[in-house]
Amino acid sequence: MQAFDSIPKLPQALIDTLKQLRYEIMTPIQESSIPILLDGKDIIAQAKTGSGKTAAFGIPLIHAINTKKRNPQALILCPTRELADQVAKELRRLARYKENLKILTLCGGTPMRPQIASLERGAHILIGTPGRIQDHLSRETIYLKDIHSLVLDEADRMLDMGFYDEIKKIISNLPRKRQGMLFSATYPENIQKLSREILNNPEMIKVDTEHDDLVIHEVGIEIEEQKREEMILQIFKSYKPETVIIFCNTKVETVSLTDSLRDKHFAALDLQGDLDQRERNETLLKFANGSVCIMVATDVASRGLDVKDVSMVINYDLPHDPEIYIHRIGRTARAGAEGIALSFYSFRQKEKLLEMAPSIDLLSTEHLRIDKNFVLQSKNATLCIDGGKKNKLRPGDILGALSKEIGISGDHIGKIDIFDFQAYVAIDKKSIRKAYEGIKKGKIKGRNFRVWWLD
Ligand code: ADP
Ligand code: MG
Repeated sequence: MQAFDSIPKLPQALIDTLKQLRYEIMTPIQESSIPILLDGKDIIAQAKTGSGKTAAFGIPLIHAINTKKRNPQALILCPTRELADQVAKELRRLARYKENLKILTLCGGTPMRPQIASLERGAHILIGTPGRIQDHLSRETIYLKDIHSLVLDEADRMLDMGFYDEIKKIISNLPRKRQGMLFSATYPENIQKLSREILNNPEMIKVDTEHDDLVIHEVGIEIEEQKREEMILQIFKSYKPETVIIFCNTKVETVSLTDSLRDKHFAALDLQGDLDQRERNETLLKFANGSVCIMVATDVASRGLDVKDVSMVINYDLPHDPEIYIHRIGRTARAGAEGIALSFYSFRQKEKLLEMAPSIDLLSTEHLRIDKNFVLQSKNATLCIDGGKKNKLRPGDILGALSKEIGISGDHIGKIDIFDFQAYVAIDKKSIRKAYEGIKKGKIKGRNFRVWWLD
């Protein structure tokens, strides 16, 4: 476990930024990748979700950008728009020390024209999904001849989604002389093939420390199917989690479990493939800002997402595949915090479960210690304000209005997420009504905004 300043090639301004972000020591993947990448070598890195891969490639990549030039110099391919947004967010934080560095995301589901305009204005780092980047290439609205760093993030997932050809096509448009980084949770044959084709003599880095495994406590409970829902309530009162992700194997079950938890007044939302982009984003945002404490999800909808500090994962259905089991339980115990991964299983599934999870503790339900007084509740609610970056609204403006004009105490104001035309603000439930009324009646930066109270 080493501090970032043990790497002599990193500038002091970056070290200071990392201190502000409270990145004190490197994660294992960062410790092994950053020095190799600073030497200009290619890497293949395998590490589980939540191990800090973004900063592992992001720090050397940002370091290598020359902001005096305006053509794109780095290209990061991600499987989904959410992941691209997450990478962009993390890189923007890491790049605070580098003035004028422009990071642009290029994903589907948003109009082409503003993206083209942004590309024309110049950007140093491009982050996007293979489909959309390919679109830009075929319209010749993107210039890739000065790209010297290439990242494939969650490469296995991109291949799962059928992006092999797009990826190859995009890369055939890049200069030969470049640094390549491939990140993947698994290393199946098709990834090996892709690495041989696009990387130059890569170093292999694999990090999966036992220490990481120790902080996830795996528990199994044998139960009949129709009793699971009720058991969940007991489990909440016994483990007293703050946030929970419940995995189901089908969309239908995901939706119906969410509905019945909501009927019982839990702040639960579903995350499954039938939601549109906006609904998905809103769900994730509310979970991340503490307005929703239970997310019921399918695997497809939730893979790779960076949701932080999840205290508990429940396998309502056992996954069919051990890899998915690992992915699911990896949602808890991120960046060092302890988590519980609890799986329901039927008598018939016992062997399958023990094969998937050899170190699991099988619990009998009589041993649950129930605290009758505990109620799993979300701390916050969310206000959605009808103004964003394009209306020149900044987090400081909203914070100012809420605290100075409306009189909400600072510790009741949570995460502020600002988009082009909207802002979402997490407010402690104790102050939500006051904040809502205040914004509805008052002004922010001298202007009226519409506001919605999302529960
Ligand atoms: P991965 O891509 O491996 O799933 P991320 O890069 O998304 O993981 O990082 C997971 C979380 O850990 C992020 O919230 C990130 O801000 C945080 N993180 C990354 N590196 C460090 C560090 N050195 N110290 C503390 N937190 C870190
Ligand atoms: Mg990642």
